[in-house]
Amino acid sequence: MTALLVAIDGPSGVGKSTTARALAQRLSIPYVDTGAMYRAVALACLRAGVDPNDSDRVADALQRTDVGPGTRDGIFVVELDGVELGDEIRTSEVSLATSRVSVHPVVRERLVELQRQFGRRHGGVFEGRDIGTVVFPEAEHKFFLEASPRVRAERRHLELQQRGETLDLDRLEAELRERDERDRTREHSPLRADDTYVRIDTGRLLAEEVIELLIEHIRTAQNQ
Ligand code: C5P
Repeated sequence: MTALLVAIDGPSGVGKSTTARALAQRLSIPYVDTGAMYRAVALACLRAGVDPNDSDRVADALQRTDVGPGTRDGIFVVELDGVELGDEIRTSEVSLATSRVSVHPVVRERLVELQRQFGRRHGGVFEGRDIGTVVFPEAEHKFFLEASPRVRAERRHLELQQRGETLDLDRLEAELRERDERDRTREHSPLRADDTYVRIDTGRLLAEEVIELLIEHIRTAQNQ
């Protein structure tokens, strides 16, 4: 039997992580945060003083770095040269650098290959931007989550507040819009949903409601 693959794509701050993590637990398959892998590459570049826009130097840095998806106690982790990464990949600086390094085909090819290897072996709920279009076009279930930029910025604002950080709401929204624009308009693997996706507007739904909706879709598809 082939491993079950679920794709969850959509823009930043739309609730993909919460949804994908909970869904993976319900389905007893791994949760894979592909954004964390792109973030790891961006962090490696920032640490090495490499301009994230410079594809040759990014390619160089990538060759010298080992970005590994792995599992610890059954939970997905991303490692940089063998060291597990945590919140250091979640800063605004890393977020912006990530949307820059992820336009380069050399980065995408390498990470997509790692994601495919992992998925073929373990299956999983994969969250990202190009999972259902490029990484696993054959995935059994594909969901595209969306919500307005303001709603997404408000959620991120609340999340940061809960961690004791304050960032101006308008600035957060502007940053989200900038990353979205780059993700949607890049030449390689742009963020887009085709008609193989189930599209879900998470703007007016609670996290639990989104998860139940996805479970319902999966059950219905499996019974068909
Ligand atoms: O999902 P997250 O916000 O952590 O992703 C950070 C950035 O990584 C995105 O803005 C996007 O530029 C890039 N990314 C990507 N393809 C993916 C996942 C993330 O290009 N599959």
